Amino acid sequence: MNRFGYYKARDTGDAVAAAAAHAARAQFIAGGTNVVDYMKLDVLQPDRLVDINVLAKDVHGRIDVTSEGLHLGALVRMAEAQDHPDIKRDYPVIAESLMLAASQQIRNMASLGGNILQKTRCQYFRETSWPCNKRQPGSGCSALEGINREHAVLGTSPACIATYHGDFAQALIALDAIVSTAGPNGNRQIPFGQLHRLPGDTPEVETVLEPGELITSIDVPAGPHTRRSHYLKIRDRQSYQFAVASVAVALDLDGDRVRDVRLALGGVATVPWRSGEAEAVIRGNILDERLAAKAAEAAFAGAEPRQYNKFKVPAGKAAIVRALLEAKAMRI
Ligand code: SF4
Repeated sequence: MNRFGYYKARDTGDAVAAAAAHAARAQFIAGGTNVVDYMKLDVLQPDRLVDINVLAKDVHGRIDVTSEGLHLGALVRMAEAQDHPDIKRDYPVIAESLMLAASQQIRNMASLGGNILQKTRCQYFRETSWPCNKRQPGSGCSALEGINREHAVLGTSPACIATYHGDFAQALIALDAIVSTAGPNGNRQIPFGQLHRLPGDTPEVETVLEPGELITSIDVPAGPHTRRSHYLKIRDRQSYQFAVASVAVALDLDGDRVRDVRLALGGVATVPWRSGEAEAVIRGNILDERLAAKAAEAAFAGAEPRQYNKFKVPAGKAAIVRALLEAKAMRI
């Protein structure tokens, strides 16, 4: 681990100023469950850690559920949100995505803001002796011809095929969440679907956030689809494991007919992945197993599997069918 400075921020403005002073070499830290892990591995080598836990004492640590929607402070811990009774009732896809992520101990510590910015667990990114474009731009991608069982089949590029490993983000992109930030150039709001960047030829740039820009809260608009929402996660073991494939779905039904649908995929893509192709197949039609299978085909029509991750295509399709039928069968 490199030597670094530690600064305990007093408030939001102080945190942003402290980070901006060190530009890209500063790192915000809250729960530290991902940052400290990668610092120990020398993957992250910040000059300065800016501790933002003090922000949990103000509005950035609050959960509010109103008729307008759900407001989540970025310093809310994953476990707090997963156990919140209004979220479980009105936004079950959010509660489920959090419940199925990591371990209870990690969820007790990890903040929501940190969770959505978590780094990939690509083994070549974690192990610094291997070439990796994301860790060391221009060095190459060891996963392309390496052990790529865990890697993405959607949104990949010749420079990087790393999977985005989060779960909560799939629920947020499905529900059209908005992220609020504070930064050196002021405050702004970013639609969740625009937060993460496809790897392209600059996989080291993972989001549209500027250096020193801090996520302060997340808002999820209310709608007729949020109660009939569901997160399905397929993984190699049933606890404390990343997704082989996952699906966040929200349905607004008129009997068996789908008035509206939101569908996002995890474990198979380089970023939180909203499938407009699957939604277009489903919207306005009677939802049954046949339609769900057709939507699954559409979702993976552009998939580009590598040597060891071909199984993710049928696994992802099966997950879509199951998630849609389970969401349809929900009693709300
Ligand atoms: Fe690095 Fe991405 Fe290749 Fe993994 S897939 S080795 S993170 S460039």
